[in-house]
Amino acid sequence: MHPMVKPALRRGWRDLNTVQFGMTPAHALTLGPVDTATGSFLDLLNGTRGLPLLREEGQRMDLPEGHVDRLVTRLARAGLLDDARGGGAAACALREKKEVMDRLRPDLASLSLVAREPGEAIGRLAARRDLRVQVRGAGRVGAVLAALLSGAGVGEVDVLDGGCVEPWDVAPGGLPAEAVGERRTAAARRAVRRAAPDRPVRRGRKAPSEEGEPGHSLVILAPRDDIAVHAPDPSAAAELIASGTPHLYAGVVEATGVVGPLVLPGQTGCAECLHRGRTDRDETWPRLVAQWRSGRPRHVRPCDLALATTVAGLAAAHALAFLDGESPSGAGVRWEVSAPGLNWHARPVWPHPACPCGAARKPVAEDTSNEGESRETMAGQRPSSTPCRQADAARLAGTWRAHV
Ligand SMILES: [Zn+2]
Repeated sequence: MHPMVKPALRRGWRDLNTVQFGMTPAHALTLGPVDTATGSFLDLLNGTRGLPLLREEGQRMDLPEGHVDRLVTRLARAGLLDDARGGGAAACALREKKEVMDRLRPDLASLSLVAREPGEAIGRLAARRDLRVQVRGAGRVGAVLAALLSGAGVGEVDVLDGGCVEPWDVAPGGLPAEAVGERRTAAARRAVRRAAPDRPVRRGRKAPSEEGEPGHSLVILAPRDDIAVHAPDPSAAAELIASGTPHLYAGVVEATGVVGPLVLPGQTGCAECLHRGRTDRDETWPRLVAQWRSGRPRHVRPCDLALATTVAGLAAAHALAFLDGESPSGAGVRWEVSAPGLNWHARPVWPHPACPCGAARKPVAEDTSNEGESRETMAGQRPSSTPCRQADAARLAGTWRAHV
């Protein structure tokens, strides 16, 4: 290990003996008491030295025996340490690709804030390269979303849609004006390739027409059709439910942007749960949906460009968090934002007892609404071989969440 105090966290001394890492309440931690020698030693934890060399430096600085190892362990346990050489073989291969790394450097720095273990951030970034995601819908939301995922390092982003690019599909970051008149799918795939930090990984792939074939880590449904956004048709996701493929909804309807739910089949509320729940609350819901669906399709639907981009961005962030192994708040929730107030609201999509997806029969999913607490708890539990109480006590004496 080549320990490195996470460079993404800005450092500041609250007083002579207490150092604060990070600025924002979500990720800031304070460490104390830190004596002057240890404070100077922290500067050596920059990823250029392995532990043996660091121990030598510690001796030169008259730090007590074992102090360096204790400090490194403590920092790692608090989630403040990264490993400049860690993350496994895929991470090492990624480090070799300097141009790709330069493109992804801010994303890596951001990942280092949420990944706790040394080397985990680049491990996650490298893992994205092996993922397959499908985006269904290449309008103002879908094409931008697909390009975002590709730009963030997801190895294979497949886009599906019908018809040809219309002038009103054009969006910065998505389909360019030059693509008007081309097949939507082809134009969106080109936008995806253009956004990618690296050339696509060659692999034996299945025909793109095989919608929802097993193997997609995530399928994103980003319909251009406003009714499909507001009242997603359960049959459109039936094969995803059947194959257990996680999927996420995103789109714009009227002047409302929608992100979610992220559906974990059999675990969280799905489109059919949503439909049944709405029907329970309002018996005229199916009648309204039927009228909307049978009405004459509109040529151009309302889709504010900034709102569409906002939706694409938030949906991509939820997708990446899920793909990186986190539990984003989109599972079982529809996030909605309406112009002109632009406040996000979370509307729960409860598993419906009569829905065949079976989510209602599952035990209640782990509460992920309080990431902060779980993060602290995790810090107290590492390493797993250490009894909890002892680890907690050690941690309380050293690091705690900053009040910022
Ligand atoms: Zn369901």
